[in-house]
Amino acid sequence: MFYGHYCGAWFVKVIEPRIPIWVLMNAVQFIDISHSLFVIFHIEKVKIRHDFTISEEIISVPYSHSLLGATIWCLVAGLWYRFFSGLGGGNKATLLICLLVLSHWFEDLVVHEKDLLLFTFDNTKPKYGFGLYKSFVLSQLLETGLVLSSFFYYLKNTQTSLKNSANFWTKWGSYLFKVFF
Ligand SMILES: [Zn+2]
Repeated sequence: MFYGHYCGAWFVKVIEPRIPIWVLMNAVQFIDISHSLFVIFHIEKVKIRHDFTISEEIISVPYSHSLLGATIWCLVAGLWYRFFSGLGGGNKATLLICLLVLSHWFEDLVVHEKDLLLFTFDNTKPKYGFGLYKSFVLSQLLETGLVLSSFFYYLKNTQTSLKNSANFWTKWGSYLFKVFF
């Protein structure tokens, strides 16, 4: 899953507005960011694939995309948020950041073919994935549905100041400001 992961960021921005949107966006993709670094440094292996549902075929991704790895990354992100980021929201925000990082693995589980490990880094152990990527239409419907529903949920719950702004540019200017800051 790629853009579907961002749904969690919009939901959490409503629940805990003190977490900046850039932190939320990075939290939902934290596991893929670590995966990219592992691939660059030849710690994890993928094969480039030329079809339209996914761009890479997973060969070995135990450290970023096992449930064990995802749990470790979720704790790392939570510790960073709570003790080093200097950002607000306390324990509630920290827990939400942890859940966002972990949510990535469960969303991937729905779409990936059987290439996700559970609580092990051993690539020979059984792997899981419900394989929705096999259907381009269904996987895109899911991703688009997740992003749109969460984004409209966000708009619905944060639009008080928008209603009061009569001018179009003031309205959207203030909206964009609100989203990113
Ligand atoms: Zn992923």
